[in-house]
Amino acid sequence: CGDPYSDLSKGVLRCRTVEDVLTPLEDCFMLDAGTVLDFGVLASIMQSGHTRIPVYEEERSNIVDMLYLKDLAFVDPEDCTPLSTITRFYNHPLHFVFNDTKLDAVLEEFKRGTQMSVSVPWVSLFQTGPGNMGEAQQAATCASPPPGKSHLAIVQKVNNEGEGDPFYEVLGLVTLEDVIEEVIKSE
Ligand code: ATP
Ligand code: ATP
Repeated sequence: CGDPYSDLSKGVLRCRTVEDVLTPLEDCFMLDAGTVLDFGVLASIMQSGHTRIPVYEEERSNIVDMLYLKDLAFVDPEDCTPLSTITRFYNHPLHFVFNDTKLDAVLEEFKRGTQMSVSVPWVSLFQTGPGNMGEAQQAATCASPPPGKSHLAIVQKVNNEGEGDPFYEVLGLVTLEDVIEEVIKSE
């Protein structure tokens, strides 16, 4: 039935930027790349309520991977699997947007989506890593997820304040939900 967006919401999407709607880095639930997936960590992931969790190295602004809740389907807390074993297996691509990207442009990006890649077999990973997944490992080998779409992007800006060279500064996360919320608020 034609165009789903009113002129008002189109205007909002054209005027507002991801910086207006992002979740700031300090409010993001994230995991250190060196984390071990024991019971306590798995419980905190469940309690966070988020399905995509950025993984950082050394400092929170250095996001190196993304963990999806569904990646944990075959993880047994008793195995104390290193998080890096899981992120290396799923190897989800990271998506970045600049802080001044307009919401209509980021919505188009989300609509286009990007394929997830699954490149490393479980068996070889778990042979070199600690713990034995046994049947769960075999099940996971057969159960690679189908390609999916990413509706989350990491927001960065070029920081050229101060005397040093300009650098990319991570400000936070933006998801399709953040964009849709703006549309709903404008109606
Ligand atoms: P679900 O995927 O189950 O719908 P979700 O919270 O993982 O829930 P969204 O619904 O896309 O993902 O986002 C809801 C809000 O949570 C948005 O404001 C988004 O920026 C924020 N958000 C998403 N992931 C995280 C995270 N890891 N830490 C903090 N906030 C997040
Ligand atoms: P994700 O939550 O990872 O984004 P999803 O497929 O579980 O993926 P949606 O992205 O909300 O959920 O939905 C994508 C499409 O899959 C929609 O057309 C939705 O109706 C459909 N869908 C959702 N859950 C199921 C299900 N259990 N069986 C079949 N189709 C489903």
